[in-house]
Amino acid sequence: MSNGAGREPDDVLDLLVVGGGVMGLFTAYHASRTQARVAVVELGEIGDPLTASFGRTRSYRRDYLEAGYTRFADEAIRLWTEFETATGADVLVRCGCMNIANTKITPDLDNTYATLSTDVLKRLGIPVTSYDTEGIAATYPFLQADLGDLDPVGGLVDLRTVTATLTKALDEAGVVVHQKTSTTAIEQAGDGLVTVTTSSGVFVTRSLVITAGHGTNGVLNLLPGNQLQVPITKDRPSEARYYTPPAETRHLYTSENMPVMAYLDTGIYLHPIVEGVIDAVKIGFYNPPDMPRGTTSINSVGDFVEQCMPGLLEAESVPVTDVDQCDYDLVADDHFVLGDVPGFSNVFVGVGWRGTGYKYAPWVGRVLAELSCQEGTVYDVARFTPSRFVTA
Ligand SMILES: Cc1cc2nc3c(=O)[nH]c(=O)nc-3n(C[C@H](O)[C@H](O)[C@H](O)COP(=O)(O)OP(=O)(O)OC[C@H]3O[C@@H](n4cnc5c(N)ncnc54)[C@H](O)[C@@H]3O)c2cc1C
Repeated sequence: MSNGAGREPDDVLDLLVVGGGVMGLFTAYHASRTQARVAVVELGEIGDPLTASFGRTRSYRRDYLEAGYTRFADEAIRLWTEFETATGADVLVRCGCMNIANTKITPDLDNTYATLSTDVLKRLGIPVTSYDTEGIAATYPFLQADLGDLDPVGGLVDLRTVTATLTKALDEAGVVVHQKTSTTAIEQAGDGLVTVTTSSGVFVTRSLVITAGHGTNGVLNLLPGNQLQVPITKDRPSEARYYTPPAETRHLYTSENMPVMAYLDTGIYLHPIVEGVIDAVKIGFYNPPDMPRGTTSINSVGDFVEQCMPGLLEAESVPVTDVDQCDYDLVADDHFVLGDVPGFSNVFVGVGWRGTGYKYAPWVGRVLAELSCQEGTVYDVARFTPSRFVTA
């Protein structure tokens, strides 16, 4: 098997991916399925649990305030299922995803994220199961809320299984992932081929995809004549804690009985216990920069537990430190950046997932694989064009 590096014409790659997070690995996965010769270069190590793509769980959901993001999330879930069928791996924990609200905290239920996002789903013909105060008390006895809108199709992604499955599939397809590899120069010849100089060798490739997260602008800067700089900034949850309920009530909080939950008006999101994946409830608190802060009585994970899940007050609680010590990549206009790098017909970029990217990974990977290896994509991604950030 070739290691993917070299200068002989036989060794010309169809695709080199710079950045081996979940977006880069899924790009390589989809490209390798169309027989393309593919390699990946990654600055760090695949599977590092402190990076964005390799923790334990990420939620997947379809509830957005914009129909476009809902449609693509729906398609991504279809592609996750296709990935499971193709590889035989179980990567989705199908526990549902429920937006909640409590009238004591956000009295105007009609204007909560739950109601507004449910309106979008219903408009698109996506069924949502709605619970009122009594329905919640009967179905989710651990929760004090007056509104619960459940999309049964959402849930959690098991990241370690995704990483192991992708790594195996890439290996079987002959895709070499060069870890601990820095990229020092990129040149484009008259014939269009791109030469990429790295600490693991020199690669000549027909097309290049950059999925380097917060390192993306650094890689773009290596492209001679590049005028694209993506305005990405870093942000991270204010707080995330694990809660381990006592044995008598533990069953209430497992993915069989508890969905992924979010109270986004207060910045709270929760992941249930998943057998074999994570043995504690994860509760995070995050207010994006554009959300008004401090407008509710919930200013910490502890506030939420006290007001909405008092059964966990007795649970053992520790900060999340084993995973997720990473940053969201926020974009100035709050939209994905996905498409061709202006001025280069065969260089593509995908970045700016604003803390919501993981669920889209198989879809992003398919888009970038099609753009780079099949001369175009079946999806309409015009709104995500990187050209909106050309500096000159
Ligand atoms: C705390 C947290 C919670 C989240 N929760 C959710 C969630 O519940 N649901 C959801 O859908 N999404 C969630 N997300 C978002 C999701 O995890 C990310 O959008 C996704 O993992 C981004 O993947 P990526 O491949 O673009 O970036 P990354 O995982 O950052 O990968 C980029 C890779 O490029 C490499 N790189 C950088 N520079 C170079 C270079 N010069 N050369 C080569 N390689 C380079 C980096 O080392 C890195 O491995 C969360 C994110 C965080 C931080």
